[in-house]
Amino acid sequence: MSDVSMTIGGERRAAPSTFGVVNPATGEVHAEAPDCSREQLDEAFAAAAKAFVDWRSDEDARRAALKAASKVLMAAGERVAPVLTAEQGKPLAAAAMEPLAMGYWLRYFSGLEVPREVIQDDEAVYAEVVRRPVGVVAAITPWNFPIVLAGWKLGPALLAGNTVVLKPSPYTPRSTLLVGEILNEVLPPGVVNVVSGGDELGRWMTSHPTPRKISFTGSVATGKRVAASAAPDLKRVTLELGGNDPAILLDDVDPGAIAEKLYQAAFDNCGQICSAIKRVYVPEALHDDVVDALATRVAAAKVGDGMDPDTELGPIQNRSQYERVSELVAEALARGGSAATGGAPIDGPGYFFQPTVLTGVAEGMRIVDEEQFGPALPVIPYRDVDDAVARANATTYGLSGSVWSADVERAGAVAERLECGTAWVNAHVALGPHQPFGGFKWSGLGVENGPWGLAGFTEIQVQYRARS
Ligand code: NAD
Repeated sequence: MSDVSMTIGGERRAAPSTFGVVNPATGEVHAEAPDCSREQLDEAFAAAAKAFVDWRSDEDARRAALKAASKVLMAAGERVAPVLTAEQGKPLAAAAMEPLAMGYWLRYFSGLEVPREVIQDDEAVYAEVVRRPVGVVAAITPWNFPIVLAGWKLGPALLAGNTVVLKPSPYTPRSTLLVGEILNEVLPPGVVNVVSGGDELGRWMTSHPTPRKISFTGSVATGKRVAASAAPDLKRVTLELGGNDPAILLDDVDPGAIAEKLYQAAFDNCGQICSAIKRVYVPEALHDDVVDALATRVAAAKVGDGMDPDTELGPIQNRSQYERVSELVAEALARGGSAATGGAPIDGPGYFFQPTVLTGVAEGMRIVDEEQFGPALPVIPYRDVDDAVARANATTYGLSGSVWSADVERAGAVAERLECGTAWVNAHVALGPHQPFGGFKWSGLGVENGPWGLAGFTEIQVQYRARS
């Protein structure tokens, strides 16, 4: 039995069967979630298609509903946090922020203008470009920020007049199901449907004839499968995929002063952030000082069960990710790298890994070339800025990157050379609902957030009126 339900057509629904959800702090199944059947998925899409008819027609009602949804989410932190921590591992305080952030996003979109533009207005023709909803949206999310990332999709999708079927990751389904129940208190039936199940449910969604748009956040490998699955009937697709973000430190940084910011941008959420710092490039002369300052901060991080209020870093979210991080670190160490701090899994139950700073590593090692998505950070010396920029860009990823310096203008000039969707100066993982977020190359297709993200949930329509 699952104590959280799917939401289909405004009703709380159990599934014919359930699947176990593991608490990563113990490695044990702690609860169940509904395993949506194919018929139930059909029902969810049918409910969304039915709700679309009225929902699309009244923009004021949509804005009011988004505001109401924002309000209930902002009051739901304490209710959602224990459910999210138990399945995701993150500390309770961070878990409580997720519904708040989703509420903040929904409030932003409740007030965002849906653009219309007059392109011709003369004696012969009045022509205007307007935005129309695409229809039913299939939204698929990963396990690192289940609620926040659902908010990135629901805000713009709903404002534009679409209805949604949302599927969370099978690793973290319960917090999203709970959010679905909460939203159902204020949204009309069928506008947001939440279903849960395995990866196969995601495949059913992307190949289903009803949705006209897939909004996907997850790994590059799955993103490519989603794009292929959407192609036969030309469903619109937005893909927010992985990253291997570089941070380039210039030769005038104060290692002690930036260590805390680097630590947070690399290790928050146990390093499981798409746009976390995943490689640090430092001038050769500063290498040892940066490693010392960073390793000191990282070694002080309190690792533990997210339910413990003192915990800074929880476990890695799932076994296969834990094994992957362990493998990447072990390979780096076996090939001549060394750990300035950490370097190994933590004994005992759960998927805990020592927060790790690696030196003596370089391109050609998986910890540098691939997205580690965990609490292990390589620090790599560079010769000159051209060398650093070339190495930062020499990847199939292009999500984001940062440049750090006492001189913002100088850093800005280097940041302009980064091939990625967001190029920060003296910051990293600084995001907001008004700021478009997306990746170059294999890090994605399209963007989320701001008017640009809203546009991705619309079709352009020309309203053309001949006057003579
Ligand atoms: P994943 O790709 O394994 O799974 C993501 C979602 O896709 C899950 O809900 C899963 O059930 C579903 N899925 C799996 N196979 C599918 C298929 N064939 N068709 C449709 N859906 C399918 O990713 P993950 O391991 O959950 O998440 C980690 C990845 O997500 C990392 O690479 C990370 O960088 C990326 N990510 C990107 C962003 C961003 O905004 N760019 C944000 C967070 C995470």
